[in-house]
Amino acid sequence: MSSEKSTAADDRRFETLSVTYGEEPDLSNGVGDVTSPIHLASTYTVEGIDMDTALEDLDPEADEFLYTRLSNPTRHAVEKRIAALEGGDHAMAFASGTSAVVSTVMAAVEPGDHVVAFEDLYGGTNTMLKELFRDRLNVAVDFVDATDPENVRAATTEETALLWMETPTNPLLRLCDIEAMAAVADECDALLGVDNTFMGPYFQRPLELGADVVVHSTTKYINGHSDSLGGVAVLSDDEYAREIGFLQQVGMGNVMAPFDAYMVLRGMKTLPLRMAQHETNAAEVAAYLESHDRVSAVHYPGLDSHPQHDLADDQMDGHGGVLSFELDGGLDAVERFVAALEEFTLAVSLGGVESLIEHPASMTHSPLPAEERAELGITDSLLRVSVGVEHPKDLVADLERGFEAMVAGEGSATDAEADAPEASPGDD
Ligand SMILES: *Cc1c(COP(=O)(O)O)cnc(C)c1O
Repeated sequence: MSSEKSTAADDRRFETLSVTYGEEPDLSNGVGDVTSPIHLASTYTVEGIDMDTALEDLDPEADEFLYTRLSNPTRHAVEKRIAALEGGDHAMAFASGTSAVVSTVMAAVEPGDHVVAFEDLYGGTNTMLKELFRDRLNVAVDFVDATDPENVRAATTEETALLWMETPTNPLLRLCDIEAMAAVADECDALLGVDNTFMGPYFQRPLELGADVVVHSTTKYINGHSDSLGGVAVLSDDEYAREIGFLQQVGMGNVMAPFDAYMVLRGMKTLPLRMAQHETNAAEVAAYLESHDRVSAVHYPGLDSHPQHDLADDQMDGHGGVLSFELDGGLDAVERFVAALEEFTLAVSLGGVESLIEHPASMTHSPLPAEERAELGITDSLLRVSVGVEHPKDLVADLERGFEAMVAGEGSATDAEADAPEASPGDD
């Protein structure tokens, strides 16, 4: 299925564009690098004084370079490639996913406007919408359960300028129907933004489903190796793109650095290979967890038991590599389980080749008040995993180790006593 993806930019297939698009060998410098060099120069020589060419005429998309904040060849190669993979006409690469989100939202709203957002957004985006847009910039924000499009429609007002969605969400892997969201956005003349970080363009292309803009934290799957921070916005509307570009280059000056751009270009070459393996492994891990009697719930869109499994199959070409599950046990059991793991590293973030596990209640979602976490369903027994590309049998064996440690702790002592050895001498 994946090999039939084509994009607006080019009729070559996704896998081909991932490897080469945006950095075809350039012989003009007499070298002909097969990969894009890391262009570190902050400024570029110009041909002479020209009173007829203004700064606004600079066209980075035509490879015109004056000053690196405005346009940089390595960054531009990333922008071209991601635009091709998402099927958009324009892309802007930022210093982080967060800066891609803030610029994309800011370009869409003015003070007095209203935003409707999915209630379980990435924690940082949730806080940004509340503490920057709502509390400082006078933009009203309503958070709703967007699994039902009627909730989103009901929350819109005359002032609604933007719908902000993630699908699947973090950490519960809930989905919203992107086509239905686009219909609501059209009805109220608002824009629809979709954070596509969890799926990436290999599995889901929101622009094709009617979204106006897609953002990514390239820090996750796009770079894919947990060694670079970045973000990108992709869209086709020229005017909205100009607004976002203004914020990226001038309003905030928030651009992806050349070294990170190089890392992202390199990472993208294997995006289809990695995503396919992430999915294979995640499916195996999800099936194992679902069959385990000490797991009370598994949240993964690829499982038949996922309440939106059909929607997942309709709007995505796969189910990704992130899942979350509920251990049948308290916080002590969770601690023992996690401490015994050797392959899954306890760390926030996701989308890298290595498997990670995290505890949303104390890590990614700890800024949310406890009652808000409870409302969303983020319990103290919930764990989120980003399944890497290791051998799936090793990952399952590791989880088995976790369960054994969890059960052993229950059998030998009370929870309090089981925790005591952690404080023994020499074990700090
Ligand atoms: C990580 C993440 C972000 C923020 O990206 P940074 O690169 O950390 O700034 C935004 N949205 C989602 C869904 C993420 O996972």
